[in-house]
Amino acid sequence: MQMKTFKTVGVVGAGVMGVGVAQNLVERGMRAVLVDLSEPILAKARDAIRNSLRVAGMFRRGGASGADPEQLLAHIEFTTDYARLGAVDFVVENAVEKLAIKAEIYPRLDAVCGPDCIFAANTSAISITKLASFTKRPDRVLGMHFMNPVPMKAMVEVIRGHHTSEESLARGRAFLAQLGKEAVIVNDLPGFVSNRVLMLTVNEAIWLVQDGVATAADVDKIFRSCFGHKMGPLETGDLIGLDTILHSLDELFSAYGDPKFRRAPLLQRMVDAGLHGRKSGEGFYKYPV
Ligand code: NAD
Repeated sequence: MQMKTFKTVGVVGAGVMGVGVAQNLVERGMRAVLVDLSEPILAKARDAIRNSLRVAGMFRRGGASGADPEQLLAHIEFTTDYARLGAVDFVVENAVEKLAIKAEIYPRLDAVCGPDCIFAANTSAISITKLASFTKRPDRVLGMHFMNPVPMKAMVEVIRGHHTSEESLARGRAFLAQLGKEAVIVNDLPGFVSNRVLMLTVNEAIWLVQDGVATAADVDKIFRSCFGHKMGPLETGDLIGLDTILHSLDELFSAYGDPKFRRAPLLQRMVDAGLHGRKSGEGFYKYPV
């Protein structure tokens, strides 16, 4: 099947992941329409992409073209208007990890996007079949679980929902190839492969700190030095965002009704205190903002 190339792609949600996807798109010669709720959020996203493009340009990594960051930024339309997605034929949805919020977004996308447009849900844990049920095109909805930071990660976990068609999967693969990425395709159950395991690991590591078994630094050291992991579970939690970890655990808990997904009270307390990890400047560790 001859796949047409993607030129302009919709990106919903301009947080950690949406910013990474939009940056990756323009670095790879595409244009992006980036939608979020307010102008201040979009302004922050613009600054984050500008900074990241500058750093990428310095190191020429991840397919960075070496083009002027301002020129690349001009290929992103920052908007609060969903109607601007009317002309795109592929959307990556990266809104906050809450079913109630995503449940409102998909009917809006369904209303404004053309009938052939594919919706790729970048979710940590929510069932793709459930998200597809909020549209009239469940065959054109798939999961696209990008890794963070998006421009630097070459592999994506792609999820086949109950109704996802082979053609949609092929278009998803073609889209990822244009981004310089490969896909591992898995079937749909909440958390998929990666986060059904990872969320439990991060949560249990938080229980360890809460129970006073070890400090965060020592927990992470054991995973790095003894197991050869690049990052420990608490560093990983900070990178993902502790609020996103909490929402993902809640989604897994409600999907499976299994107490193994119960969140550590320390996680709830840190999120309530505004300690969301890297993006807020503090989680288990402190970061310059
Ligand atoms: P985030 O909290 O950093 O950003 C979410 C963004 O969604 C916010 O800017 C928020 O304003 C926006 N939003 C909320 N409601 C919206 C709406 N109705 N329309 C448009 N935008 C809306 O979250 P994130 O870390 O970027 O995660 C986004 C998605 O990607 C989540 O589903 C998450 O589980 C998934 N994910 C996250 C990671 C990670 O490492 N952070 C990795 C893979 C997948």
